[in-house]
Amino acid sequence: MATTSFIKKNLTSETTEPAVTPPAPTGNTTFVKKPKLAGAKSRKKDIPEGLWTKCPKCSTMVFDKELDENLKVCTHCQYHFPISSRERIHSLVETCTFEEMDAELTSVDVLNFTGVASYASKLETYQQETGLKDAVITGLCKVGEHRAALGVMDFKFLGGSMGSVVGERLTRLIERATEKALPLVIISTSGGARMYEGMFSLMQMGKTCAALAYHARARLPYLSILTNPTMAGVMASFASVGDLILAEPGAMIGFAGPRVIKDTTQAELPPGFQTAEFLLEHGLIDAIVSRKEMKARLLEYLNFLTAGQKQAGTV
Ligand SMILES: [Zn+2]
Repeated sequence: MATTSFIKKNLTSETTEPAVTPPAPTGNTTFVKKPKLAGAKSRKKDIPEGLWTKCPKCSTMVFDKELDENLKVCTHCQYHFPISSRERIHSLVETCTFEEMDAELTSVDVLNFTGVASYASKLETYQQETGLKDAVITGLCKVGEHRAALGVMDFKFLGGSMGSVVGERLTRLIERATEKALPLVIISTSGGARMYEGMFSLMQMGKTCAALAYHARARLPYLSILTNPTMAGVMASFASVGDLILAEPGAMIGFAGPRVIKDTTQAELPPGFQTAEFLLEHGLIDAIVSRKEMKARLLEYLNFLTAGQKQAGTV
């Protein structure tokens, strides 16, 4: 029979000192905290790319799936991330009711504009990158019970700039809404008119507003929703003439940028200048509505604004 013998180690004799030597008991000892640069780096490596997004407002890392489920709104500070036109349509209209209009219209480089790259090549790149033909999607849809005409701009396509296709699609949408006696909703995000098309882009401002005047004359409601950012030629035309003007929280809204205004007027700009909150206070916009509440509020406003027509039996 094999016998196992254990040798008893005398642990106490080997560990005469504690694992961490306590500091010398002097009164004026100072501890210098080492910056944890190495630790921070390795933590960054642990986070796989494309799964988390850092919120630019509160710096929280938000799980992408969570962000998508929350309509691209930060779950911690309610910062509204940019959202694509398709995602926005999905969030507002009844499933399978959106009938896109004029999807085949594409911009033409009439001026043969060439800057750092040619306009034609820019158009091609953006069309491939975004899967969009231009910076707005228009169509008829249903929002709750209401048939409505809906136009949604997309900032990812050349900064949501308004060229002849954006103007033409919106004008046709407005005219269709007038013809069919439908309420109109346009969700804007834009850096302004598209400089590559010069005069052709500027004339879209007048064209869209003229079509809106006919829509208004038919006593039909137009809701303009401003999202971050809505600037320049778009803000100076169709976006600012809604019967009701709504905005997303924190959206930058204006004509010229704050730096240009500051340089021109040589004056200090008030805090919060050109934000949705500032403009609500000063009466330019009617309400600030968060993205998650937008559909419910839109329904509420449509119910209110079309109540008279329903009574008259025109809708
Ligand atoms: Zn945040």
